[in-house]
Amino acid sequence: MTQRVYNFSPGPAVLPEPVLAEVQRDLMALPGVGASILEISHRSSTFENIIQQAESNLRQLLSIPDDYAVLMLQGGGRLQFSMIPMNLVGEGRRTCDYIVTGSWSKYAAQEAPKFGETRIVWDGKSNNYNRLPEPSELRLDPKAAYVYYASNETIQGVQFASEPQVGNVPLVCDASSDFLSRPVDVRKYGIYYACAQKNAGPAGLTLLVIRKDLLQRSRESLPGYLNFQIHAEAQSLWNTAPTFPIYVFMLVTKWLITDIGGLDKMEALNRSKAKLLYDVIDQSNGYYTGHAKPDCRSMMNVSFRLPSDELTNKFVQGAEERGMTDLRGHRSVGGIRASIYNAMPVEGVEELRDFMIEFRNQNAK
Ligand SMILES: *Cc1c(COP(=O)(O)O)cnc(C)c1O
Repeated sequence: MTQRVYNFSPGPAVLPEPVLAEVQRDLMALPGVGASILEISHRSSTFENIIQQAESNLRQLLSIPDDYAVLMLQGGGRLQFSMIPMNLVGEGRRTCDYIVTGSWSKYAAQEAPKFGETRIVWDGKSNNYNRLPEPSELRLDPKAAYVYYASNETIQGVQFASEPQVGNVPLVCDASSDFLSRPVDVRKYGIYYACAQKNAGPAGLTLLVIRKDLLQRSRESLPGYLNFQIHAEAQSLWNTAPTFPIYVFMLVTKWLITDIGGLDKMEALNRSKAKLLYDVIDQSNGYYTGHAKPDCRSMMNVSFRLPSDELTNKFVQGAEERGMTDLRGHRSVGGIRASIYNAMPVEGVEELRDFMIEFRNQNAK
């Protein structure tokens, strides 16, 4: 088999090896079925079992109460930037409040005005999105249709430690890049959603956990596919569901439950992995500078700079030679971004830590 690298891609991203091995083993024929997951009907009892198992694994991991529906949709994170305002603004046409903490919440806030009056209640732009708002900085509308935020900004590497306080207004969270990386209390949310390809599976699947009373806001005039209520009633099988991504998601959630031991354990692992890198940054005498302020550093995307672009290029190249790929930061932030999602093994992070120390020793003046 070809040697696997340590893949620090921001997404689609590294998957757990036991999951890939199981997919490979059963790809020609699912046990007892004799056909591939790629070949069977989304209405077959085999697939029904798979989608039900995927949902029950997710419900177990996040302790999702019965008054929340789980939807498995296509269109990625981006489609939710439109689908959420389309469905939640409702007949009352109330305003929607957006907390803009980085690129992804900014893109979401750019889509919302097509469907309802949109207020940017906080924008971290003046600090180049390196910090998060204090509770006192948020001027929320108590009558808003919802408050929207992103729990982890994948590009800037800033992550909320806990939910913003929004009173009785439904809270909507884009958790695409920290989904299932730590426990969350779903009851604090109106909608908690994520595209799968960062932390939960391959591209082509979006998971949405929605409080059932909010489904009543979806107007009948909405296009069918874009109506949350239709998907909820059909249990995500209104049309052909993305069968393969749902199958892999089922295996990833099974891995989280049985191999990892749940989200408390996952969080502890993620914390220790991130600390390995932030410690090097903090002990580098300013050679490495982290993008995020220390109190809002992401456990998933570690974003930092070197003293020059030339050194950044040399770093990326040297890392690649040692089997560590996709470390270049997003062009809007520059520098290096190490995405260390759930499935990144601690050995990969240790290898990067060792390389960072060695690189500084060799290149600092
Ligand atoms: C990657 C990402 C998205 C975009 O998802 P697509 O599936 O590409 O549409 C949205 N939000 C966050 C936080 C992301 O990291």
